[in-house]
Amino acid sequence: MNLRILRSGSSGNAIYLEAAGTAVLIDAGLAAETILRDLSLMPQAAPLQAILLTHEHDDHTRGAGALGKVFGIPVFANEGTIGAGAALLNGASVERFTSGRPFRVGALTVEAFPVPHDAVEPVGFLIAGNGTRAFVATDFGEATGEILARAQDAETVLIEANYDLALLGVSPYPWFLKNRILSSVGHLSNDAAARVAVHAASARTGTVILVHLSDINNLTPLARDTVQWALAREGLTEVRIEAVRANGSSPLWSL
Ligand SMILES: [Zn+2]
Ligand SMILES: [Zn+2]
Repeated sequence: MNLRILRSGSSGNAIYLEAAGTAVLIDAGLAAETILRDLSLMPQAAPLQAILLTHEHDDHTRGAGALGKVFGIPVFANEGTIGAGAALLNGASVERFTSGRPFRVGALTVEAFPVPHDAVEPVGFLIAGNGTRAFVATDFGEATGEILARAQDAETVLIEANYDLALLGVSPYPWFLKNRILSSVGHLSNDAAARVAVHAASARTGTVILVHLSDINNLTPLARDTVQWALAREGLTEVRIEAVRANGSSPLWSL
């Protein structure tokens, strides 16, 4: 499985994932031209076969409809996200999925599961292909039992590590925004991401990828170290940890 974060953070989110020749984009929260340019700079990238949407927030959907039309590929989303993002998806081919009901995109099997976030019907994805599985969940306020169960034993665990609690406390964000981030339908802290990683990781887990870091309320090394220490305390010293800096991109990883 090959994976590259094209962008991750409040300014936009898009993840390229490919296995056995099938490539998809998870979220398209950048201008379509930006995503097209980024993909054109990846000569090894397979052609996209679909766009999968986690939820309707602008930083995840901005370019989805336009990109779907340019490539002539479907945008997969659930009922709630389609309804809330209707204007944006206008003219694009839309495929509806239901949480808990796996669907195929080429060589990939995708299963969506609900996450708690202040959107209409937000989800994460468990994506299987080429004998490996990636758990992908960003934008959730707390790790529910279902999230922990889905994350368990995945070879790749990609989760949000949005903020450090102490940095959020002293940050210049207004209180209403701090409360939104902290709430159970807001975003995930480094400590909470570490707990998900510890719960998820097993001998099968090769890589934990931390994304959607805040540029104000977090630091890339702090997010990485928090998760690394938590895993090390459990004896999980072989897991590779990658933290993508706020609004940054990653290399193309082979997982
Ligand atoms: Zn969101
Ligand atoms: Zn977001």
